[in-house]
Amino acid sequence: MMNIIDIKDWGLGLSEHVLIAGPCSAESPQQIETIAKGLKGSPVELFRAGVWKPRTRPGSFEGVGAEALEWLQIAKDILNVPVTVEVAKTEHVDAALKAGVDVLWIGARTTVNPFSVQEICEALKGTDIPVMVKNPINPDLQLWLGAFERLNKVGIKKVAGIHRGFSDPYEKRYRNKPEWSLPIHLKRMIPGISVICDPSHIAGAREIIGAVSQRAINFGLDGLMIETHHDPDKAWSDAKQQITPDTLKIIYESLIFRKNVD
Ligand code: PEP
Ligand code: MN
Repeated sequence: MMNIIDIKDWGLGLSEHVLIAGPCSAESPQQIETIAKGLKGSPVELFRAGVWKPRTRPGSFEGVGAEALEWLQIAKDILNVPVTVEVAKTEHVDAALKAGVDVLWIGARTTVNPFSVQEICEALKGTDIPVMVKNPINPDLQLWLGAFERLNKVGIKKVAGIHRGFSDPYEKRYRNKPEWSLPIHLKRMIPGISVICDPSHIAGAREIIGAVSQRAINFGLDGLMIETHHDPDKAWSDAKQQITPDTLKIIYESLIFRKNVD
């Protein structure tokens, strides 16, 4: 039995329908400032930005690196919310902890590798920072589950899953096939765990972010992580799937959340 601390009890003011927003990649202090200002007045509760970008093939933008960690303070000041970055190596964990990042996340290309996950866990020993774990690229629930077990073994109890879809060479509609039964199954395997949906990486196209978000809510997932950029077409990574802060507000307003009816 795993020991899980509910997202509402992480001490960060996050709700049961947490909205995480921010750019795929941190590009400059000005970009972070513009996006954070745009998000003001939206229900965003946690600001995301990739600082180290795991690219499938070499040659594309690989992130600004540790320098960008300082820029996150700009978003914190403007929005008064905690911030989260992706970590894939022990050096990332050390730098993020030192910079006061509030929440870490493990990306899909890292969850597939138990050696990497274990190294991250060793670097996290003795801390109680919340860690969100994206599903592995491939539809293997055991790998996803294993990452949570490894985290729990080093004492990390503040954990949540992120459903970002699964790679499938025959999939046409989505960038990553949702396979909704898998995150639902994970929620059954780890009682009490929140699983947040990342419609951006499932969709791969901004036109269907709203529809995928609504599906996630209908399936009972616990929140949304949506890539947001002030000028999506010019984004340095994942340009096609990012939406503006204004579009995010419109989409969020249109979502229908389940009411608790007894
Ligand atoms: C990201 O969140 O920008 C990212 C790289 O995601 P994933 O690990 O889901 O591909
Ligand atoms: Mn991205």
